[in-house]
Amino acid sequence: MKFPIYLDNQATTPVDPLVFEAMKPYFLEKYGNASSKNHSYGWEAESAVEYARKITADFINCDPKEIYFTSGATESINLAQLGAAESYSKKGNHIITSVIEHSAVLDSIQFLERKGFEITRLPVNREGMLDLDQLKDSITDKTILVSIMTANNEIGTINNISEIGRICRENYVLFHTDATQAIGKIPFDVQSSNVDIASFTSHKVYGPKGIGAIFIRNKSPRIKLSPLFYGGGHERSIRPGTLNVPGIVGFGKALELSKKYFDEETKRIGYLRNILYKGLKSYLDDVYVNGSMKERIPNNLNLCFKNIRSENFISNLREVAVSTGAACSSESLKPSHVLKAIGLSDELARSSIRFSIGRFNTEEEINYVIEKSTETINNLRIISSNIEIKE
Ligand code: PLP
Repeated sequence: MKFPIYLDNQATTPVDPLVFEAMKPYFLEKYGNASSKNHSYGWEAESAVEYARKITADFINCDPKEIYFTSGATESINLAQLGAAESYSKKGNHIITSVIEHSAVLDSIQFLERKGFEITRLPVNREGMLDLDQLKDSITDKTILVSIMTANNEIGTINNISEIGRICRENYVLFHTDATQAIGKIPFDVQSSNVDIASFTSHKVYGPKGIGAIFIRNKSPRIKLSPLFYGGGHERSIRPGTLNVPGIVGFGKALELSKKYFDEETKRIGYLRNILYKGLKSYLDDVYVNGSMKERIPNNLNLCFKNIRSENFISNLREVAVSTGAACSSESLKPSHVLKAIGLSDELARSSIRFSIGRFNTEEEINYVIEKSTETINNLRIISSNIEIKE
């Protein structure tokens, strides 16, 4: 076993060695600029990019012309939201999102709010689920965009995006989904779910960091987004800047593998997650799952262990790499906005741990994690009850 055991695959995944092999030549030998039209270095780079674009498009069931490469999901999300706000501001100034979105969505929407846009932030219930009647009722003739994530990065809950897409389509409102945590974990098809814009990234599917994509529907309806950057005309001027060819090749390879392994991998990872859940529940009292266990991506387990502080768990169990929530907010001392939104007290939110399982985890590792977590939690609970007695 390799230590620490990595159970933080929702923060990022290791690069698959096959992805790394596919990328290597594009650093060392095939280093052309994909926009160079005058020689074979440029042509081979361009054809590698177009191949990856086709794989990416096939993965989500769209046309390659509807895929634009970006630096990651944060950029795609900003492009979706700021680009739609700018482009459709004549139609209206109202945007709907949910309270449990990733900070990339929440912060760019907050920026739009400061610019004068009106924002509706839909709540979720204890299971982490939206009330879709409330979504329907929130749409007005000024609504230009609904931005709802496909799967949550902290509690792994899955939204009914087909139904959300249907509601948006019926009301002539654009539907953007942050699909970052859904890609490769559950089927994701932009046609059957009426998604107009989707954001996703490579480093959650065993590809490299710093490369992502946005899907922008170009017919029925044709979506027009204003770009965030100007210059150069790359990616049909939606995302100018020299293309990250090795990153794009790696992303394409990662999606190719993800598609190939999908059935077997999602089953195996779900099985490991369930072993972990059952093991911890059977050895420990007062363990609660955060969010719906049914509507959940197979790699996520977010548990609340009463009477422990998650940072103490993490610092006492150095052989396991897990997280207290989103990597982007784990430096903040504030309890997670997602756990608060599903009704947890500050105390319980601070007692919660996210375990996220990936392609390279084994059953032996999971059994080790069950044993060591049980030991650590029992010890922490003894310490905290001694402190309470003294007080
Ligand atoms: N959206 C979700 C749901 C995420 O989990 C993440 C990454 O943690 C992002 C967006 C941001 O992705 P990136 O790191 O590619 O910018």
